[in-house]
Amino acid sequence: MRALVVEDEPDVADDIRAALQAVGFVVDIAPDGRDAWFSGDVEDYDIAILDLGLPHLDGLSVLKRWRAADRLFPVIIVSARGDWTERVEGINAGADDYMGKPFEMGELIARVRGLLRRAAGRGSSTVAIGPLRIDSQRMSVELNGVPVRLSPLEFRLLDYLAHNIARAVPATELADHLYGTADSGDSNAIEALVGRLRRKVGAELIATRRGFGYVLDQPA
Ligand code: CA
Repeated sequence: MRALVVEDEPDVADDIRAALQAVGFVVDIAPDGRDAWFSGDVEDYDIAILDLGLPHLDGLSVLKRWRAADRLFPVIIVSARGDWTERVEGINAGADDYMGKPFEMGELIARVRGLLRRAAGRGSSTVAIGPLRIDSQRMSVELNGVPVRLSPLEFRLLDYLAHNIARAVPATELADHLYGTADSGDSNAIEALVGRLRRKVGAELIATRRGFGYVLDQPA
């Protein structure tokens, strides 16, 4: 999963990044509104954490521009402002959730996961695909009730496919969401990673749809 953190205070941005990375996210930071608008417009994120008071362009305007351009990833506003009218304004501009500063990092992570579950149409953090059980919160996987030991990257790949179940996900998209912008673009690395994952969880669960990408789906 890939997150954009829009925050002009470096310490706060670093704290949020560390908390997200600790639970397996790839994180980009945008330190001002213009950068945020651009990144959200051209990059593909699973979620954005958005501060409102920003240099160059305020957070609410960034959000309105994203939504006007059909950038529909979930957005959590995290702001030191925050009487109820501002929360309403944020939600009306297209935010999915709103947290006042200061906040507990554990609550932010819980809300991030909740929004990702909803975006994937799920009611809980676990999903069963045939004999496979994936727990996004515990970052654990079982095959026929037996724990499977996956590397962090293997888990992130499986978790991303599970959040996009039955959809063919291109290797380039996987690289973006697993490695972030700086290292993406190597589809050979993704192919090798998928190969390792297939050996661990069963090749039949992850299909290759030639020309489209990889699909995790319920067995027929
Ligand atoms: Ca700020």
